[in-house]
Amino acid sequence: MFAISVVFATSKHLMSIKDFTWTALIIYGCVVLALAIIYTGLTLYRNKKWGYQWPRILVRLDNEVILATISFSRPLTVEPGQYLNLWVPSVSLLSSHPFIIASWSSNPQKSLDLVIQPRSGFTRRLYRRAEMDSAQHVASRAFFSGPHGHCVPTRGFDCVLLFATGFGVVPMLPYLKQLFHNYKERKSHTKRIHLIWQGQTIHLRQALKPVIDAILYEDRAQRSYILRISVYTETDMQREVHGRCTLYPGKADVQSIVENEATGNVAPSTSRMPAIREEHFPSASSDSKVDTAHLVTSDKLQGSPNAGVAPGRTLILVSAEGGVRDSLRRVVRSYLHRNFELRELDYQPD
Ligand SMILES: Cc1cc2nc3c(=O)[nH]c(=O)nc-3n(C[C@H](O)[C@H](O)[C@H](O)COP(=O)(O)OP(=O)(O)OC[C@H]3O[C@@H](n4cnc5c(N)ncnc54)[C@H](O)[C@@H]3O)c2cc1C
Repeated sequence: MFAISVVFATSKHLMSIKDFTWTALIIYGCVVLALAIIYTGLTLYRNKKWGYQWPRILVRLDNEVILATISFSRPLTVEPGQYLNLWVPSVSLLSSHPFIIASWSSNPQKSLDLVIQPRSGFTRRLYRRAEMDSAQHVASRAFFSGPHGHCVPTRGFDCVLLFATGFGVVPMLPYLKQLFHNYKERKSHTKRIHLIWQGQTIHLRQALKPVIDAILYEDRAQRSYILRISVYTETDMQREVHGRCTLYPGKADVQSIVENEATGNVAPSTSRMPAIREEHFPSASSDSKVDTAHLVTSDKLQGSPNAGVAPGRTLILVSAEGGVRDSLRRVVRSYLHRNFELRELDYQPD
């Protein structure tokens, strides 16, 4: 209604100008119309293959986190960090919302995973739908546009740091999967990957544990051992070590993390660590007891590509709240001459 009033008022105003010609406006209108037709056509093409049904979305709850899978008929190539605009008419008729695609494959995919934080509008209604659907496994009709957004190329970097707060970890998951794929295919020479994750709830850690465990498993299966995960949590607890996953109390010290990476000083600071075969992602403090039955000395880990090597080119990806992004911008400025590159992803949680 507001848009129609604006168009009407502007036309009235233009017509009152002496010698006004419509040519420029008609050309502009044609271009906008052509783009709208192309965009709608492309969206319809991606949503439906002739003779197949429209996309369906299945939502379920895992520890207060909405895990959604949207399935469609035409395989889609998705790059890490990209997102889609989701429209579920039966949940909200008049709005679509952007969500990062959490799954990644080198091949085109016919279903995509989303990890959604329940807020107060559309996502809260989706949460209620998930509560109802969890038992019945009923998929709803959904539409999407995309994939939108850009992907930061990670090949050619010796070291990759991923800084995330809260749901900002979601875009990091496809990046991690792609990094290990490239490592396996000998398409990259990354020597170290460090995921730093702050400000998450136990619920979110538990919901994402299977995905992160699968990534750790991939690292172990390839015998690369290039991944470390540092989880910073506000809960009152002591530092705990789980193989290559370390749980820290408090907030991440961005300055010293970047400094340590720059000097290659990333060897484990404890003298003894749990054996690699015992490692797992700590989801909650109750299940995060360190199993000391299979300890190995850090010397064994020193032999891994993780320790003692000063990096060449370093890429820092960030999907985090404003404070962490500000600190990173400040710190990385003094490492630009050392080939450090900071890239902010399309989704930045608040
Ligand atoms: C590129 C991108 C990727 C995202 N990926 C994820 C993801 O993977 N997981 C996730 O949980 N969240 C993601 N978000 C945030 C998510 O889109 C919003 O949380 C969601 O739209 C909130 O919907 P709501 O109606 O429940 O919001 P409300 O409860 O009404 O508002 C909560 C917050 O969401 C913002 N918001 C509301 N509608 C939109 C919209 N259409 N577009 C952008 N922001 C909106 C509001 O400004 C407010 O800050 C992403 C956002 C962007 C921009």
